[in-house]
Parts: sequence; structure tokens; C-alpha cells
Amino acid sequence: MYETIDLDRIDSIQTPPEEEPARQYYFLARCRKYVENESRRMGRALTARVVTFGCQMNARDSEKLSGILKEAGFQTADDEEADFVIYNTCTVRDNANQRVYGRLGHLNSLKKKNPRMKIALCGCMMQEPSVIEKIRKSYSFVDLIFGTHNIYKFAELLSAMFEQEGMVLDIWKDTDRIVEDLPASRKYPFKSGINIMFGCNNFCSYCIVPYVRGRERSRAPRDILREITSLVSEGVVEVMLLGQNVNSYGKNAEFSMTFAQLLEEVEQIEGLKRIRFMTSHPKDLSDDLIQVMKKSTKICRHLHLPLQSGSTRILEAMNRKYTREQYLRLADKIRREIPDISLTTDIIVGFPGEEPRDVDETIDVIQKVGFDNAFTFLYSRRTGTPAAAMANQVMPEVAKEGFDRLLKVVQDTARQNILRLKGQVLDALTEEVNEQDEHFLTGRLSNNTIVHFRGDKSLVGKIVKVHLKECHGFYYVGELLSE
Ligand code: SF4
Repeated sequence: MYETIDLDRIDSIQTPPEEEPARQYYFLARCRKYVENESRRMGRALTARVVTFGCQMNARDSEKLSGILKEAGFQTADDEEADFVIYNTCTVRDNANQRVYGRLGHLNSLKKKNPRMKIALCGCMMQEPSVIEKIRKSYSFVDLIFGTHNIYKFAELLSAMFEQEGMVLDIWKDTDRIVEDLPASRKYPFKSGINIMFGCNNFCSYCIVPYVRGRERSRAPRDILREITSLVSEGVVEVMLLGQNVNSYGKNAEFSMTFAQLLEEVEQIEGLKRIRFMTSHPKDLSDDLIQVMKKSTKICRHLHLPLQSGSTRILEAMNRKYTREQYLRLADKIRREIPDISLTTDIIVGFPGEEPRDVDETIDVIQKVGFDNAFTFLYSRRTGTPAAAMANQVMPEVAKEGFDRLLKVVQDTARQNILRLKGQVLDALTEEVNEQDEHFLTGRLSNNTIVHFRGDKSLVGKIVKVHLKECHGFYYVGELLSE
């Protein structure tokens, strides 16, 4: 494990080892020397800032980047006026790309004030050749660019950036490699994301993820269980198992284990109190998984099950491989088996060919399932995906009209559903001191609902009993009963 490695004892003058993760430890030791020398020269500690765009997978990747930077000797900066800034980018929607370009302009002005500042870009957006072309042409002040497949090489790339002149660029098309035992730092000491798989094989026709994150690769169960056990020993009580499609965990792997079986194993870890996971594809959600969730005392009563559309003809064009009826049957089965579960979803409005009658069908599914929340997005045309080439793109004003109509139903349904919790006494994991009022704490129920309650900050990280008193639309204000 990484914790047992003493970087200061690594001879970073020798030829670097070939095998991983020893090679990355070697480069981390080199980075540490560079940071030490530079700090001495400047008479202060070097600072670094990691900025994350996008999903939970990126958030977890950023914890790995932060872990490397911390081990290299950087102090965490609160803003982008730092010696090293890295943007971990997302490319699922076009506006995410535009935000990165906009913010790069600002970084350039900071670099003019501090010419020794280093700027790096990584993540999904960097897997797109057109993006790389644009950055090389218009943002040549960027020092380091890498993609999603070689993030484990961050220490090596960082070291190259410190030692070379000009932009360091390393983008891989794909990989089947998973490197274990690298450092990561956590945003919260009491909860953590755990990657259980990488990539996606589904090729939903609107989605760029399979092109930028590559094919599915599952981590070995022993590595996942070892990591969680170690996190629990450090005080973690809640884990979120992460993958683009966790329900296909173990498919085509060298070992034999399904996602349901993995959950049963994770449940056995002593000291772990809560298990969450994200994301589930409806086509792969097995009866075994429903039964494991039903029996479990640790798996949270929340399932995020992306619907995307309630119209079978649009689902077919999206290549989602289920029909509206199959989704409804699945949601019904889950609700029947686990009555206190909270179901949330993702919906896209304005997919090519979508007509108002398709939006009506989606609204009908929302009402029938009664989602506790739905993340609703306007379709974003991503170059390189089959949907981007479809001739029947929807006019923005038509999409917007459908979006507004649907959003209203989503909000009404969510508001209605959350009321069922009123008066109940439930466990909440206390996550932080309330931002608006320091006398209040913010906690999360097993079903993912947020509750604010009066309490002392020493309770952060603890699971407490809260009486849910007042419902405020999408969250509760409650009273702390006991630890
Ligand atoms: S399941 Fe579909 S939407 Fe999700 S990452 Fe894979 S291709 Fe994209």
C-alpha cells in the first residue's frame, strides 16, 4: 500500500523503474525535490489548486490529483492565484467546454502576473482531438495536457513539466490498464468515492463518454475491498461505489463476480455504515441486485436510475436498449420490493426527432414512477456521437418549451414525494456545518434527502437521529434527537 512508501528514501537520480506503481513513486520523489527547491528559492510554500468540472467520477479523479500534489509538497490554494492550477474537465455538454475556454483566459492573466505559474488540463475534454488543436493554437501558455487513460501517470507528467521547456502533451486513445496503490486525498474524512470500474460499452447515441473514457474495465474485487477496509480504518463510514454503469461490473473480467455479489462483500466490512453507488443502467439492473438491496442494512435507500426519455421511439434512437414499459415495470418492481426507496433519474429533453407527444410520454412516466428528483438536461449536440449527425435536430425554442413543461412536473412530483417523510425520525450522516448559520448542521438521509438541524460541529461525520419537522420544498429542517 502507498502509506508504507517512504518517498524520501527513493533515489530519484537512478533510471526510473519500468513497473507500476513503483515508477510513479519514483517520479513523485522527483517532484518533491523540485517543489522543495522551488519553495526554498521563493521563500514560501508552493501552492496548487485543482478545479473539477463534471461528474462524481471526475470528483474522484481530482482527489487522486490532489493526493499526488499534496505528496509532492504543494499546499492547497483556496483560489486560482496559485503556483500550479489544474482543470479536470468534462465534455458531456458543450457549455462545459465553453466554460473551460472562458476560464483559461483568466488563468492567462494570472500567469502574466506570476510567470513561474504552471497550468495543466486533463479529463474528458482533452480526449477530443479538436480541443487539443484549439488549445495548442490559442492557449499555448498551458504547460501540461493529459487525458483520462493516463491519469495514473500524473506524477511522471508533472515531473516532465517541471524539467522540460514547452508544453507537455500526453493523450492516449484507450487503455486496459488499472494502476493501484497511488495516493489520493479526500474532500471529506468520513465519506469517500471508490472507483469500481472505468469506461463504458453502451454507446448511447448522444453520449461522448465511451469515446473519451474508453471500454469498460472492472477493478479486481480484492483491490476494492482492500481500499474500503483501509478507508474505514481511517474513519470513513460511507462509501460511494463509482462507475459509468455499475450494473455491468465484472462482465468480461478475469474474475467472476457480479455487482450484486460485490455489494454483499462490501456489506461485510466491519465499521462501514453506509454504501451508495452510481450509476445504474436500467437494462442491466438485476433481480439479484434488488434482493441484495432489500436485505442490506448498509446500502442506502436511494437508487439513481437514468430514464433519459419516456418515449420508446426516442429511447430506441438513443440506443438505450429498454422500452418505456420495461422501465415502468422495473421501477414498479423496485418500489414493491423496497417500499422506502427513493428513486431519482436523469432526463434529456430535445433529443433529435423528439416531438411534444414524446415529452408528454416522458411526463407520464415521471408521474407514474413518482421520482424523488430528476436531473433534467437540454440535449447537447456532441460532435462525434451518432446523435450529432442525425438530420432531425430539434429547434432550441421547441426543446426549451418541452424542458420547461417537464421541469414543472418534476418539481411538483418531487415536492409531493418528500412530504411523505414529515414527522419521521431517521438517521442522517452529518456532513458539514451549515453555510448560512453556524449553529446548524447539514446532514443526509439514507434516501439522499438533505436535512438541517441545530447541533454542535463535533457531530460532523457522525450518524445521528433527526426528527423531520418542517419540509421546505426539497429539504427538511429537523430536530436532533440523539447520536
Ligand atoms: S451508459 Fe450511456 S449515457 Fe451512460 S456513460 Fe455509457 S454511453 Fe454514456
